[in-house]
Order: sequence, then C-alpha cells, then structure tokens
Amino acid sequence: MAEQHLETNSAAETEAWAQRLAMTLKGGDILALEGDLGAGKTTLVRGLAAGLGIKPSKVSSPTFALMNEYEGSGQTLVHIDAYRMNDPEELAGLGWDRLLEDTSVVVAVEWPSKVEGALPPHRTTTITLQHTGENQRSITLTPARDWTTCPTTGKRVPPDSPTWPFIDGRAQLADLHGWFVGKHRISRPVDPERDDLADIPHVPNEDEG
Ligand code: ADP
Ligand code: MG
Repeated sequence: MAEQHLETNSAAETEAWAQRLAMTLKGGDILALEGDLGAGKTTLVRGLAAGLGIKPSKVSSPTFALMNEYEGSGQTLVHIDAYRMNDPEELAGLGWDRLLEDTSVVVAVEWPSKVEGALPPHRTTTITLQHTGENQRSITLTPARDWTTCPTTGKRVPPDSPTWPFIDGRAQLADLHGWFVGKHRISRPVDPERDDLADIPHVPNEDEG
C-alpha cells in the first residue's frame, strides 16, 4: 500500500497535517511514531488530539507517566511514550491487552522500537519524522495493512464501503476513465496473508510511477 510523504515547515504545519489524519482514524488504529528527540512526535500527537476533539494543550509528553489518556468526542486517544521501556512486557502493566480490545481507542506510541513486537502490524501505521532543518521535518507515513487507500483520491477507505476500494462513486468513475486511457497497469504483489484480496488488482496512484 502506498506510502505518503510530506515536508512541513513549522510545528503548526505538522499539527495541521496530523489533525486531518486523525479525522480518518478509527478506534483500534495504532500509530507508531518514529523519530529522534525533538523530531516532532509529541507535536504530531497534539494535532491528532485536535482532530479527535481534544484540546491540543492537554497533550503533554508522557515520558514519566509512560501513558496519558485523553477523552475525545468519539474516540479516546491513548498516548504512550515507550522511551523508558526496555521490554514489550512493560506495556502489559499499562493494561495493553485491554487497550487492544477497546474499539473506541486510538493509540499513538512514541519510541515504538522499544516495544517492538507488541504492536500488531495489521493495525499499526508507522509515521517517521526526520529533522531536515530547524523548522523543517520530513514525514513518511506507512499505512497499516488493514488500511485501504483509494486509488483515485489517495484517501482512506473503510473496508465496508460499497464502492471499496474507492472512496465513492466519483472516484470509481474517474478510475474507470483511467483504465480506458491506459493509465493503469496491474502490478499488485500477492500478499499470502491476505488471500481474500489476492485477486484484486492493485491500481497505482498517479504519483506512484
Ligand atoms: P519529540 O516528541 O519527537 O521529542 P516534540 O514534538 O516534543 O518532539 O518537539 C518538537 C520540537 O520541534 C517542538 O519544539 C516544535 O515546536 C519544534 N518544531 C519545529 N519545526 C517543527 C515541525 N516542522 N514539525 C514539528 N515540530 C517542529
Ligand atoms: Mg515526545
């Protein structure tokens, strides 16, 4: 599934992007936030909070608390900082199993590499932040396996959408046009873990090459 890539030029831009991203999130989604100290992981969580109906100022780095929970309008945002953890087992003490079962919880984890193996890959979207200048950050999003990206609009599509994998009928028609003019080719690799999808062709985004 397609990676997304962007550059931001201020903390506010990173927050604004995360806010839009949050509107596409559903309970059960996990975001693994990779990046060095000061890369902007906590800043990004502030944007997620805004998108979930939580005051961004409520978000503080849970470096010592390890976990903060913020009540949103629909979902609860759980914010974990695994920096001080040395073993995925340490998540168990925070009620990790309960969190994984809770379909109203969106989880954001800073320093996910510290708890490698505890985050279920099919639900985990990885966002990597890199310093590229004082106020510049390069951000890469690698969607969870469960995410479907609309081939036409690049937006996330719920698995139960009647127009799946398209966001809506318009996107579907636009894509059909693309087939007619020879824009697309079938190139989707088969993922043996998702046999059910194995015979659905991968339709690349325009910018996917
Ligand atoms: P982390 O949680 O990764 O350690 P923080 O979000 O706590 O990082 O800190 C990032 C710092 O960098 C903040 O002071 C923020 O204002 C600043 N910053 C500057 N430019 C950006 C940007 N483009 N995106 C995010 N943060 C930025
Ligand atoms: Mg932080």
